[in-house]
Amino acid sequence: MSKYIFVTGGVVSSVGKGITVASMGTLLKSRQITVSVQKLDPYLNVDPGTMSPYQHGEVFVTQDGAETDLDLGNYERFIDANLTADSNVTSGQIYSAVIAKERRGDFLGGTIQVVPHVTTEIKQRFEKLAQKSQAEVIIIEVGGTVGDIEGQPFLEAIRQMRNDVGRDNVLYVHVTLLPYLNSTQELKTKPTQHSVNELRRIGIQPDVIICRSDYPIPEEAKNKISLFCDVDREAVIPLPTVSTIYEVPLILEEEGLGQLIVDKLSLKAHQPDLSQWQELVSRLKAPHEPVNIALVGKYVELKDAYFSVREALRHAGLYHNRDINLLWVRSEDLERDGSDALLDSAQGIIVPGGFGIRGINGMLKAASYARDNEIPYLGLCLGMHVMVIEFARYILGSTEPNSTEFDTSTPYPVIDLLPEQKEMENKGGTMRLGNYPCQLVDGSRAANAYGQSLVYERHRHRLEFNNQFRSLLEKAGMVYSGLSPDGRLVEVCELANHPWMVSCQFHPEFGSRPTRPHPLFRDFIGVAKDILREGAQPPLPFSP
Ligand code: GLN
Repeated sequence: MSKYIFVTGGVVSSVGKGITVASMGTLLKSRQITVSVQKLDPYLNVDPGTMSPYQHGEVFVTQDGAETDLDLGNYERFIDANLTADSNVTSGQIYSAVIAKERRGDFLGGTIQVVPHVTTEIKQRFEKLAQKSQAEVIIIEVGGTVGDIEGQPFLEAIRQMRNDVGRDNVLYVHVTLLPYLNSTQELKTKPTQHSVNELRRIGIQPDVIICRSDYPIPEEAKNKISLFCDVDREAVIPLPTVSTIYEVPLILEEEGLGQLIVDKLSLKAHQPDLSQWQELVSRLKAPHEPVNIALVGKYVELKDAYFSVREALRHAGLYHNRDINLLWVRSEDLERDGSDALLDSAQGIIVPGGFGIRGINGMLKAASYARDNEIPYLGLCLGMHVMVIEFARYILGSTEPNSTEFDTSTPYPVIDLLPEQKEMENKGGTMRLGNYPCQLVDGSRAANAYGQSLVYERHRHRLEFNNQFRSLLEKAGMVYSGLSPDGRLVEVCELANHPWMVSCQFHPEFGSRPTRPHPLFRDFIGVAKDILREGAQPPLPFSP
């Protein structure tokens, strides 16, 4: 039977609860304990798929095609496992399921209530993940902070679990923030005490409190939290802000969290082996020569909208012993004249995924800049559409080629909906989602990167390369280096007469791992690092 760790948040959101949960997974895995992770999102959306990236950040796609919270990306990167739809549960999913059962007549005669019907539905999701994953420990993160109205059924469900599976099989971890007051120059513990009081009010006594802080936490603050919150002194774990998220497992290990979990849950554990992780962090912290990569997107004000892309670039940089100097370029800014200056130090240009017409002209400009100046270019999903439209415009000498996402009456719909997509009425969950196979063409840059001919990658899109234009673009130098096995869909394309301009219809960023960069990102940075931009030339050889 699986044991459970429930993680709640207090005081404020965005203190890194997701990274803390992911790091606990790393600590358990390093002791050869099997682990799976689940995120509970209290909002009423069924999934984040229809939410704006400004609201929610990136939508992370699992191999089985679920559109999920970006924390799942961190879980995957930290425990190096591929999760499924079962790892993200929202209030929207829970209520839809309960109401569907009610309409079907499953509860005939009964009054449907939050307790027990909604809480039972929630607990069934815990059990389903435990059954399917067969993991020894399931870590479950409750999104938001204690006290949120929407979160209450989830908190009640995790409270009930203590009786359902026995108190020795559950552990409650509360992650809080200790704010710093400049005037008195001290860290305040009172908000933590209040949020623990709120937890206790609903019947949950935390076993471990993890204290996030921008400053070192003095002993007396830890003692105070231990006393007022009734938590063992060694179970008050300080977690100061660190320069790289990959350091968090090491800090938590140093503070004894790994052993504490093992003891409290009576787990059978091996000695922890975090050597790979230690090596990763010392390499990440060592200074390296930077490589300038411009990320041209429409949501760049919110960096979380491109979380996995940024991480995948970082992993690839590390592989080549380079720091990634990410230049965030708002695509709309590129639409202005003279905007080339925004790209003139870029050694590589990346155009990531996105939806809607805003900023498209700026992205097209970035693609033509990359093609003209022979700057390495990596297009991801929308970034591939942009590369195809730009190339078609260039060879036809016309601004008419377009995607029907942006112009339904273009005479050159080089990117278009598949016939079956045209029939769809609903927006949520109706895209081409999750893993699909892709056959690579021998000798292409894509095939060279992967070193294999059949790969599976994660998708999230509606529109596709329009096959009517295949031969036209091919004659001008576009290579279709990855196709669906039936040959019908273009999955990867590249330009023959360019150092490295490669785009894919899928999202390779989701599969990149800190110690195993994705091959396309790896090769993109591999070429970009050797590109010299103006002002960066090595000195000419001295000749007297
Ligand atoms: N908007 C495009 C489509 O729906 C691209 C999607 C994406 O970049 N994820 O096909």
